[in-house]
Amino acid sequence: MIMMRRLSAALVALTLVLITAAYGGSGDKGDKGKAGAPGIGDRYFPTLGNGGYDVEHYTLELSYEPGDDVLAGTATIEAEATKALKSFNLDLAGLEVESVTVDGDEAEFERDDAELIVTPAESLAKGGTFTTEVEYSGVPDPESDPSLGIPLGWIPLDDGSYVLSEPNGAQTWYPVNDHPSDKATYTFRITVPDPLIAAANGLLTEQVPGDGSTTYVWESGDPIASYLVEVAVGNFVIVEDGTAAGVPIRHVFAADLADEATEAAAETPEMVEFFSEEWGPYPFEAYGALVVDTPLGVALETQTLSLFGSDTALFAGSEAIFAHELAHQWFGDAVSPERWRDIWLNEGFATYAEWMWKEHDGGESIAESAEDIYRGFEASGDDTVLLDPGPDGLFGAAVYERGGLTLYALRVEVGDDVFTEILRTYFEKFDNQSVTTADFVDVAEDVSGKNLDELFAAWLAQAELPPFPGASA
Ligand SMILES: [Zn+2]
Repeated sequence: MIMMRRLSAALVALTLVLITAAYGGSGDKGDKGKAGAPGIGDRYFPTLGNGGYDVEHYTLELSYEPGDDVLAGTATIEAEATKALKSFNLDLAGLEVESVTVDGDEAEFERDDAELIVTPAESLAKGGTFTTEVEYSGVPDPESDPSLGIPLGWIPLDDGSYVLSEPNGAQTWYPVNDHPSDKATYTFRITVPDPLIAAANGLLTEQVPGDGSTTYVWESGDPIASYLVEVAVGNFVIVEDGTAAGVPIRHVFAADLADEATEAAAETPEMVEFFSEEWGPYPFEAYGALVVDTPLGVALETQTLSLFGSDTALFAGSEAIFAHELAHQWFGDAVSPERWRDIWLNEGFATYAEWMWKEHDGGESIAESAEDIYRGFEASGDDTVLLDPGPDGLFGAAVYERGGLTLYALRVEVGDDVFTEILRTYFEKFDNQSVTTADFVDVAEDVSGKNLDELFAAWLAQAELPPFPGASA
């Protein structure tokens, strides 16, 4: 994610709406299993995600009517029980649930705030796979962020909609294990009135004409974290731009903005080639930008199809944002945070990537960008500890700027070639997985052969800003 206001180095903080859990169920002992936990264990978001199972695949069959804003859906969730379960939870905020089945049998369900508690007719055995089908409908009610005024979730527009979920908006539009530590593959079947188009992550594999409507089928064969799932409906054009490093480039642009957006995204193929050479092959089946016809104040690295507003795509400095969101496809999307407090692993890397692209494109060197950012950050007096920015500080300047500087400090310490090898190894080792800061530190130490405890402690674990890297060497 990146915010417009961050470009002027303003400190932004995203205040998060914490959902209170009132659920205290505990099941029978023995082979009937227990209730799955209502949270996956993230200290910042105690009720996000759920325990007791691991989702493998979601099939989301949706229909959406712009105007009345009603979303109707059937979510089919294939999962593996990681323990014997008498009941389990999904995250779902608002919307009406009409029915729930597990392995084809009616299941009991109840709602408790954003928890959908499902009790199958028969308990689930540890290690077994099971399929849950949830029929639901209603007008999605976005989570509202009071500090930035950014609504999160399924957001209606006059002639369509888009999804912006980081960190907890996915649960406003489908039942989900809403946490990046449980990634899954997706099939989308989205029915919209003609002539609107529905776009989603992955590849458009089929368009099925209906009676005044069309069903768009998109497949994502690579696992996606729930906050990176995108479904957008609108008067779109799909713009193909060949392949880059073997990756099909396809953009989805609001028809009104297609010419300007095509120009703004023109360097995308070269960016894909550049970052693929630096870090290893682009991790997914396609890439492109989704530009909606409304200002968002932010852009988000929704997997294979990064979301931009008219503002974040179409201004003179938007190239840095295009580089930032593309870089996240490696760092954030393919390699995802295991816990939200490690968000610097996303934003520090994407910020550093902005400096890489700028240098590659003939602008400031990485060292110059790093020093500029360092001086500004130093002057701000921001004393956020990167290893624990707090739920309110997830998207604060420190996560981006001090995060990028941490990588710069590592590069100065180990040298350019070893630094590049560290990033390549980290990506290759954890592609399609979720990681903690310790995973990155381990790779950095293994590849460099150095003990880097002092460096990482100074940059990540303490409030005081270390000297500019190399300045006192
Ligand atoms: Zn970002």
